[in-house]
Amino acid sequence: MKPITCVVVGGGYAGVNTVKGLLKAYPEEAGGRSLRIVLMDKNAYHLRKVLLFRAAAGEEDITIPFSKMFPEGVQLIQGEATEIEASEKRLIYMDTQGGEGEIEYDWLVLAAGSVVRRPEPEQGGIALGGLDDAKHIREAWQSNLLRAAKENDPAEREKLLTIAVAGAGISGIETAAELAHGVRADAKRLGLNAGEARIVLYNANKRLFPDGPAKVGSKLENALVAKGVTVRHGVKVLSERQGTLTLSDGSSEQAGLCVWTLGLLPNPGLRELGVPVTADGHIEVDGSYRIAGFPGVYAIGDNARIVDPETGRIDGKTCKEAIGQVPRLIKVMAADAAGRSAPVHKSYMDVFCFGLGPEQGMVWTRQWGLDIVLTGKLGWKVRKYTWDSASLIK
Ligand SMILES: Cc1cc2nc3c(=O)[nH]c(=O)nc-3n(C[C@H](O)[C@H](O)[C@H](O)COP(=O)(O)OP(=O)(O)OC[C@H]3O[C@@H](n4cnc5c(N)ncnc54)[C@H](O)[C@@H]3O)c2cc1C
Repeated sequence: MKPITCVVVGGGYAGVNTVKGLLKAYPEEAGGRSLRIVLMDKNAYHLRKVLLFRAAAGEEDITIPFSKMFPEGVQLIQGEATEIEASEKRLIYMDTQGGEGEIEYDWLVLAAGSVVRRPEPEQGGIALGGLDDAKHIREAWQSNLLRAAKENDPAEREKLLTIAVAGAGISGIETAAELAHGVRADAKRLGLNAGEARIVLYNANKRLFPDGPAKVGSKLENALVAKGVTVRHGVKVLSERQGTLTLSDGSSEQAGLCVWTLGLLPNPGLRELGVPVTADGHIEVDGSYRIAGFPGVYAIGDNARIVDPETGRIDGKTCKEAIGQVPRLIKVMAADAAGRSAPVHKSYMDVFCFGLGPEQGMVWTRQWGLDIVLTGKLGWKVRKYTWDSASLIK
């Protein structure tokens, strides 16, 4: 019997977990019919995106080649999906040489993720959005430290030793904590007074972690302050020009580097695929991740707008949501193929994890109406487990 071909577009968290789930579930789920799995990504590696801050604060490889992750049982295509021909069940893509390729599918899973929100070029600074950005950030602060070590003017040295982190979501919090550790360790190595290195986290909200209880926001702030991070609430960085930050309260500050951590935007390439998208650019799916008018095509993770049909709650754009959707998607595909009724989406429980520098972390979850908070090394262990398991690291 001809195998079923399932093409997964995007080898981020949703994509690699889908491939893993398919490898585990088939052929049993398909009544013995074999499954050909194809993973397509722009890159030849899985990017551990949630660890970008570590690549900005130190030299850490946060990529895993797909060939290492899936040494067998998966066909890998490095290319960028560009168009779906729904009636032919065919995916068109651009290969690494700029040539056009095509592949026919029975099932197509779109997991092309999102992109980071970047300020306008004239706003200066560096947005933490990819590997190149992380490298630029690392090079910038390292070069500033070297200059500071030779600088005699105290005001200029203070500026060179100050890093602004603009945007205080999870990414901003983790970036500030890790930079505080990495920059101070390097400053010390260069004979500078480590305490002179300042990391200032600018938060547009009135407190940290508005998605959770105020006391968890305070705990996070205390942990950051203990690391040497200054947290400024209710103020945004508007721009950074030649070391001068213009702030939303009309004041200005000096900083040798501004790192933007402004959150996520829908992947702009989705519109070109021809699938229906919402006004803001996410793929529209039904309660079982199907795309209307595109038989056999599903979307999960950051690139889709996923709503719990029972509560109306929209899934957040985080790893836990993306990965939590995977087992249900696999059941949906099997049910659709067998003509059975398919499961529908259900929101993931409230849980947030924060890395707070090497070996420190915090986890908050709400269970049975109770707030559960893990801190310190235990928080770190859970945080590390979530990072590793999300990227299929045992
Ligand atoms: C700096 C930063 C920090 C974050 N921190 C956290 C955190 O602490 N906790 C948390 O839960 N979430 C965090 N997030 C959000 C989290 O990264 C996303 O929710 C998660 O990556 C979503 O997984 P995904 O598989 O949907 O998309 P992604 O992980 O973005 O993967 C998408 C994949 O698709 C590929 N791709 C894109 N377009 C195409 C195309 N046309 N053709 C082929 N391949 C394509 C990309 O190369 C990529 O490999 C963070 C995000 C950023 C940017």
